[in-house]
Amino acid sequence: MAEILVLAEHDGETVKKGTCELLTLARRFGEPSVVWAGPGADGGRDRLAEFGAATVYVAAGEEFNDYVVAPKAELLASLVAEKSPAAVLVASTAEGREVAARLAVKTGSGLITDAVDLAEGLVAEQSIFGGAIIVQSRVKAGTPIVAVRPNAVAPQPAPGAAQAENVSVQASDGAKTAHVTERVVQERGERPELTEASIVVSGGRGVGSGDNFALIEKLADSLGAAVGASRAATDAGWYPHQFQVGQTGKTVSPQLYLAVGISGAIQHRAGMQTSKTIMVINKDPEAPIFELADFGIVGDLFQVVPQLTEEIQKRSAG
Ligand SMILES: Cc1cc2nc3c(=O)[nH]c(=O)nc-3n(C[C@H](O)[C@H](O)[C@H](O)COP(=O)(O)OP(=O)(O)OC[C@H]3O[C@@H](n4cnc5c(N)ncnc54)[C@H](O)[C@@H]3O)c2cc1C
Repeated sequence: MAEILVLAEHDGETVKKGTCELLTLARRFGEPSVVWAGPGADGGRDRLAEFGAATVYVAAGEEFNDYVVAPKAELLASLVAEKSPAAVLVASTAEGREVAARLAVKTGSGLITDAVDLAEGLVAEQSIFGGAIIVQSRVKAGTPIVAVRPNAVAPQPAPGAAQAENVSVQASDGAKTAHVTERVVQERGERPELTEASIVVSGGRGVGSGDNFALIEKLADSLGAAVGASRAATDAGWYPHQFQVGQTGKTVSPQLYLAVGISGAIQHRAGMQTSKTIMVINKDPEAPIFELADFGIVGDLFQVVPQLTEEIQKRSAG
């Protein structure tokens, strides 16, 4: 069976949900082998086995932590040369895309980023211009490298052996030119990470103030969701920029996206239009966001959101 390499995104202890999504996708086309760069693979193997990894190539050297992304690209390039996989899948995150681009140059391969699905023949689907156009494309040169958007595929367990195999690849001096000097763990409360969350509740200019974002947070907490914001809200200083969804913010693709007091500008859509189900709360029935909505409530968010939160809390308590 064809081998598909999947680059693990991990925190040194366990893999992120995006890696389980890539494994789910890889299983459609062959036997997934995970590439684990850096220490901590032992801790991550159970989860990798749960999602069908046949092999885990472990390159445990500290240099994969110490020198930004270049050593990871070298590691993957060496495995591509040695194993001739049918494809390499990475998460379409800032780091994943950079590793993928470097790998494409090193191996003379074609690269597709921001894929939201992969069909037979490794035909990748991308959703562009605010979801107005779906592009299908396939790599024609070298080993297909595809960066897949987090949350594009629902992770489904299927047992695998996750057999560990140590690989000894030394990073070149050229790959060690950008050294990580410090890591600061972002404080994150109880809410899920925005790009990994299954449910996202976002607030826009309609929310009216930073204080009013407490309404959005309460609704999000009742659903176990992450909080997002439109650029109008982050530019106004109502919510931190790291939570901005859209073209110049984060791209999310959750199972459920709730847009509250957001008009649906194309730049906002670009970051959320691949969400599986979209629900809108807006007082203007003509707001363009309703064009994307699976469910919509035309109403004042200050009336709708507290009632909705209360009802959800009642149901989850019952
Ligand atoms: C280069 C560029 C990049 C950009 N990148 C991004 C990006 O990454 N993300 C992003 O979001 N935007 C981005 N923008 C900005 C974008 O064009 C819009 O200006 C922005 O998305 C508007 O935010 P909004 O929908 O919250 O505000 P508005 O467009 O002002 O919409 C507010 C909505 O709230 C509704 N509303 C008001 N009061 C209530 C109420 N009480 N109850 C219910 N509904 C109410 C209104 O009917 C309206 O539809 C970018 C723009 C440019 C030029």
